[in-house]
Amino acid sequence: MTGCLLVVGLGPGDASMQTPQAADALAGATDLVGYATYLDRVPPRPGQARHASDNRVELDRARHALRLAAAGARVAVVSSGDAGVFAMASAVFEAVEQGDPGWRDLDVQVVPGISAMFAAAARLGAPLGHDFCAISLSDNLKPFPVVLQRLTAAAGAGFVVALYNAASRARPWQLGAALDAVRAILPPGTPVVFATAVSRDDENIEITTLRDADPARADMRTLVLIGSAATRQIERPGRQPWLYSPRSHAEAAR
Ligand code: SAH
Repeated sequence: MTGCLLVVGLGPGDASMQTPQAADALAGATDLVGYATYLDRVPPRPGQARHASDNRVELDRARHALRLAAAGARVAVVSSGDAGVFAMASAVFEAVEQGDPGWRDLDVQVVPGISAMFAAAARLGAPLGHDFCAISLSDNLKPFPVVLQRLTAAAGAGFVVALYNAASRARPWQLGAALDAVRAILPPGTPVVFATAVSRDDENIEITTLRDADPARADMRTLVLIGSAATRQIERPGRQPWLYSPRSHAEAAR
C-alpha cells in the first residue's frame, strides 16, 4: 500500500487560524474527503478530487478515504477545529481497527488544528487557564444520561467545561437540561459564555451567568463555556470583560 491518509484539522474558520502544516497537507492531497461545509473552506486546486458527504456518516466517509489511500491516493480528510476533538480522526481509527487488516500498513497522519475551545478561550482571556475538560452534548453517539453524569461530575469537581455540539435543530432541549443540572451544583453567578462562529464573519460572543444563561442563544456553531467557581471576571467599563481561571488552587479559593 503506497497511498497516504492525512486527517487535517482546519481550525475554527478563519484561514489565519489554520496551521501551515495543515495548509501544506491540503495543497499536497490528490483527494479531499469531508463534510461539504468544511470542504468549502478549502480553496479549489486543479486536478484535486473532492468527495463531499453528509455530516452524519463519519464511518462511511472514513472507510471511503481509507480505500482511496489503499489504492495509492494521497488523501486529506478534513475536520473543523482539531481533527482529534469530536471529529474525523477517531472515525478513521475506528474504521482501521474494524476494517481491512491491510489498512494498518497505510501511512496515516493526524495534522492538528486550533480547536473551537482554544479559539473561544483566546477571545475571552484565559478561562481554560487551570483544569478544564471538553464534553460533547450530542446524544447521537452516547445516551444523554451519560452526558449529564459526566457534566455534573466535572462541574462538581471544579473543572471549567467546554461544551461542544451544544445545540442543533435535531437536539433542541439538551442544552437547557444540561444548564439546569449544573445550576444544582455551581453558584448562580458562575460565568457562562456562548461563543458562536468564532473567527468567522458572524462571530458572536456573549458572556452571561449560570443564572441568566438562555439555551436559545446557542446553535450548532456555538461553543458553550461554563466556568468553575474559581473563574474570575475582570470588569472593563464599556468593554467586554476578561475572564480567566487562576493558575493556582490557593488563588482560586481567594
Ligand atoms: N473538531 C472540532 C469540533 C467539532 S464538533 C474542533 O476541534 O473545534 C462541532 C462543534 O464544535 C460545534 O457544534 C460547536 O460546538 C464547535 N465549533 C466548531 N467551530 C466553532 C467555531 N468557529 N466557533 C464556536 N464553536 C465552534
